[in-house]
Amino acid sequence: SDHALDYPESPQTIDWSVHYPAFAGTGKVPEFADVGCGFGGLLIALAPIYPDTLMLGMEIRVQVSQYVEDRIAALRTTAVETSTPNQYHNVSIVRANAMKFLTNYFTKHSLSSLFFLFPDPHFKSRKHKARIISPTLLAEYAYVLRPGGIVYTITDVRDLHEWMKSHLEAFPLFEPIDEATLRSEGKGPILDAVYTSTEEGKKVERNKGEKWLACFRRIEVSRED
Ligand code: SAM
Repeated sequence: SDHALDYPESPQTIDWSVHYPAFAGTGKVPEFADVGCGFGGLLIALAPIYPDTLMLGMEIRVQVSQYVEDRIAALRTTAVETSTPNQYHNVSIVRANAMKFLTNYFTKHSLSSLFFLFPDPHFKSRKHKARIISPTLLAEYAYVLRPGGIVYTITDVRDLHEWMKSHLEAFPLFEPIDEATLRSEGKGPILDAVYTSTEEGKKVERNKGEKWLACFRRIEVSRED
């Protein structure tokens, strides 16, 4: 359930060493958040590329989040048995309703990357308020993202793409940033993973569907800073 007792009261009360034992004592907190991470493909792809960056997936489905937890545990163990003992210690998952409890997990300006990959479309217009990008939620996303941080969105649903893009464009704390600029800033590996690493992204490829990417930068200056 979404009962408040299931959630940390605030990010400060979270013991991140439970999630990232290898980073205990470093004071590090998650910098990448994958909202609605599903089966965890993005996190698993990015973990070895940015081994010093802590990453957290949020997934509302109990079985799916459990699967990801088991998957990460297995990868950590396997990595020990192979030549890459230090891999996957920087990635973890929580079962959480990200639309309600994001700020229970992340402090102000703590994230450098926020991912919304192939979110549920909620086609019918009366369900638009159920969408993960909405004017109210954008204020929260701007709060947890540090100035200069990036929101990555991708979907195979054109209407949802237009919806996410128009809301992000209309929000004063975000500015659009194109793919070429991001690649020139070294974000190529992230973009490649956004396009191809997730289970939903692979399904779209199998079905020869189109993928619509839209990325935004959390602006550097704002009245609240
Ligand atoms: N991002 C993954 C991918 O690209 O493979 C999963 C995409 S799937 C279509 C959308 C996921 O978002 C589902 O796993 C669903 O359970 C999850 N989800 C939906 N609403 C959520 C919420 N409020 N909080 C966390 N996860 C949510």
